[in-house]
Amino acid sequence: MKVTEHFQNAKGKTLISFEVLPPLKGSMQGIFNTLDALMEFKPPFIDVTYHREEYLYKMRPSGYYEKSSIRKRPGTVGICAAIMHRYGVDAVPHLICGGFSVEETENALIDLNFLGINNVLALRGDARQFEDKFTPEANGHKYALDMVRQIADMNGGKYLDANIVGGEATNFCIGVAGYPEKHFESPNLISDLHFTKEKVKAGASYIVTQMFFDNKKYFEYVEACRAAGIEAPIVPGIKPLTKRYQLNSIPRKFFVNMPEDLVKAVVKAKDDEAVKEIGIEWAIAQSKELKAAGVPCLHYYTMSETEIIRKIASTVF
Ligand code: FAD
Repeated sequence: MKVTEHFQNAKGKTLISFEVLPPLKGSMQGIFNTLDALMEFKPPFIDVTYHREEYLYKMRPSGYYEKSSIRKRPGTVGICAAIMHRYGVDAVPHLICGGFSVEETENALIDLNFLGINNVLALRGDARQFEDKFTPEANGHKYALDMVRQIADMNGGKYLDANIVGGEATNFCIGVAGYPEKHFESPNLISDLHFTKEKVKAGASYIVTQMFFDNKKYFEYVEACRAAGIEAPIVPGIKPLTKRYQLNSIPRKFFVNMPEDLVKAVVKAKDDEAVKEIGIEWAIAQSKELKAAGVPCLHYYTMSETEIIRKIASTVF
């Protein structure tokens, strides 16, 4: 079932969903352990992230560096199929522009379609480590918007090969990313909203937000989207803060601010165990307020913190 159909069927009730990362190469058991522990909350869908290959530079005995390419977390599509098979819930694979030519994107979407996966979160992806800006693949998409257009074309039976006339139309429900504190490359929020609106006009039917720690940012973002004419459901993404070093690492990596009350409490905490409790309480308070405001779904970035997410979900749902 499509993510948007789940929203419609919920009739205003707030749903819960989780995002998991493919494991570092090896066993899928970690994902199953996480999801086994979270299934009691009855998520109608689970997102699985996609990870682009990274370049590694190894020093050779000669002193020269050798460049190699490695994908640390492959398996997104297989994991989605395994999740659907094991739990009977819908899986939402993330698909990125980075590392894909348009043909490879089409092939990936054909695989998803054949597997009966009809949800996808269409993203651009970030720059590789050691690169200062995002570079698309040769003949790949530069922006998520271009991928949304390609998926919408396939939903209309239009494939890249112009000789395919009357090709089978796919039936993807397309989600896209949104940034309550604006995307870090955008000159301002208005510009960012303009391109978010373009993604929706091109065929995206819901938005999942970047994490935020201040609900005011989310509520203001929703208001700004509505004022800009973006009517799609906006799903808040929640990540509990669990360690002191995240006070610096999260803003650096995700370009989000931390409210002063949260910062003060974490700075005062005696150890990481105390920080974890503060993070859990903060995420519970955020979640309760968002749920009371009638958001369509609370989407938790699990990042392997199964017990923490369980604690939050069992208090909120
Ligand atoms: P876009 O929508 O393409 O926007 C990128 C920037 O370009 C923005 O500043 C936008 O305003 C601007 N822009 C957009 N279109 C145009 C245009 N036509 N002309 C000029 N400017 C334009 N990354 C991964 O690698 N794997 C994942 O699984 C993953 N999952 C994510 C899930 C969520 C919910 C979120 C919020 C992010 C996720 N990311 C993931 C990170 C994401 O790839 C990065 O944030 C990336 O920098 C931007 O992706 P986007 O899809 O928002 O890009």
